[in-house]
Amino acid sequence: MEGRIVKVSGPLIVAENMQDVKMYDVVRVSSERLIGEVIELRGDKASIQVYEETSMLGPGEAVVSTNAPLSVELGPGLIEGIFDGIQRPLNELVKKSGDRIGRGIEVSALSHTKKWNFVAKKKAGDLVAGGDIIGVVQENAVVEHRIMVPVGVEGKITAIFDGEKTVDDVVATVVDKSGKERSVTMLQKWPVRIGRPYREKMAPTQPMITGQRVIDTLFPIAKGGVAAVPGPFGSGKTVVQHQLAKWADADIIVYVGCGERGNEMTDVLNEFPHLTDPKTGQPLMKRTVLIANTSDMPVAAREASIYTGITIAEYFRDMGYNVAIMADSTSRWAEALREMSGRLEEMPGEEGYPAYLSSRLAEFYERAGIVKLLGSEERVGSVTAIGAVSPPGGDMSEPVSQATLRIVKVFWGLSASLASKRHFPAIDWLTSYSLYGDRLSGWYTEHVAPDCNSYRAAAMRILQEEAQLDEIVRLVGMDALSPRDRLTMEAAKSVREDYLHQNAFHETDTYSSMEKQYKMLKLIIDYYRFGIEALEKSASLDDILSIPARDKIGRSKYVPEAELASVDAISADMKAQLGELKESDGF
Ligand code: ADP
Repeated sequence: MEGRIVKVSGPLIVAENMQDVKMYDVVRVSSERLIGEVIELRGDKASIQVYEETSMLGPGEAVVSTNAPLSVELGPGLIEGIFDGIQRPLNELVKKSGDRIGRGIEVSALSHTKKWNFVAKKKAGDLVAGGDIIGVVQENAVVEHRIMVPVGVEGKITAIFDGEKTVDDVVATVVDKSGKERSVTMLQKWPVRIGRPYREKMAPTQPMITGQRVIDTLFPIAKGGVAAVPGPFGSGKTVVQHQLAKWADADIIVYVGCGERGNEMTDVLNEFPHLTDPKTGQPLMKRTVLIANTSDMPVAAREASIYTGITIAEYFRDMGYNVAIMADSTSRWAEALREMSGRLEEMPGEEGYPAYLSSRLAEFYERAGIVKLLGSEERVGSVTAIGAVSPPGGDMSEPVSQATLRIVKVFWGLSASLASKRHFPAIDWLTSYSLYGDRLSGWYTEHVAPDCNSYRAAAMRILQEEAQLDEIVRLVGMDALSPRDRLTMEAAKSVREDYLHQNAFHETDTYSSMEKQYKMLKLIIDYYRFGIEALEKSASLDDILSIPARDKIGRSKYVPEAELASVDAISADMKAQLGELKESDGF
């Protein structure tokens, strides 16, 4: 049955005679077959958000349901892909219609003609269940694409076919208990608004190491965790994201750029493909999927883009990978939600955002996690989600930031004032937090050092003490501080400048392993602890501050990973020199 448009309101149309469609069905609108999605049903009237330019539409034009929800294609060819919010490959779109994307263009998300070399990992007679890996395709030099039995298929493999296959070719047949035979291809379709199933969500207990000292030491994110990062302009948000994409301990990166000003998204599209993956020396794109919605693309596609992104992330998780998804920015996404809600004439909530803003945000972040996967074998995969928020004027009290902060467990507060002092990464240690601290502390004890957490805590304490002492200094001046407090101020300065400050563009400093982070931090904190002891033994503050080893502490960040023993040597010198002070000045 065909519906008819009765009203067009920007990206939203209302059609009548739609009694047979379901919520979230995809429809084709007008003879141009524009793609739309049903987002509200009332009687026989459906409100439809259209993912393409609607300016030429008018009442009376036809609306036809596809009877399927908005879905993505999952299979070989995803990696290195650059897609729009509904997974249309951008370069194919541009090829077909030039720079301004035309309407109603039929392009498939993945190539259906390209052949991939399918290597079977199971054989005829094997019992398999949904989620099991039956074979692999080396998608490129970096990523092995694992082909899984689709969810809901279970039984015995009757045949499996190695060799060059398109995503539509049958690679295996499986017969279930009732004797029904199912063909398995390398292509899966999945509705984007529904999370892909797993067996069990686990408690996050391992950090996703990023090599960025302020993150790993002070505000770590768990594998499968959720974080938010606000990005006042020029605060170094892009550099932080690039550092995470390059260095984080994740196999696959999904980057969703929603609707930042046109040129910013173009920056992403220009920059990302040029990043080099430090782990492989190959382009970072070789393990990346990009979803890009510039603000000049229709607003509804922006709304869909984060679901498209997280579904792709879940799919790679299901292969057993650790996936990191970055959404930039969820504020622009929320604005799309607000616009659609306004056009639906829903009751507006705070600042015009719909009342369901926070539940929608929560639904997105809840799809992150570290999980036991479906299938006959015990396997684990994770999706770690990092959402950027870009509140207007940097005011975090607005609804999107507030809703986000209630959901996420980690907040990396980028600060414009730190950035203006050229302290990078400009993550403010006084406003940032990680609620994973307790859960992850066991990992640090076990994998880094038994006393690692005490050094991490000491660093944070020194920074907090500095903030309090700063107040006093502002009121009555530095001279009012005791030598011990002045040593604390010096130690805090060292934590900030020698440790937290990290130059993303310095070949050695750009990444610090946990071993290096531990050794550096121990050096700085031990200097402080031994310095206090020396003070207590009547050494003078000036002498403590002028021991020769002190200069070297500041340069320890430039010690290459292969030469970390030299950090131990600095530590030994430092202790010896402070020890001498204790002896010579003490009585
Ligand atoms: P934003 O995306 O927030 O506008 P950028 O990430 O582009 O800001 O950062 C602005 C500038 O700050 C960069 O060009 C760079 O010079 C400097 N910068 C940011 N982060 C770092 C870092 N970790 N190390 C060194 N320089 C940095």
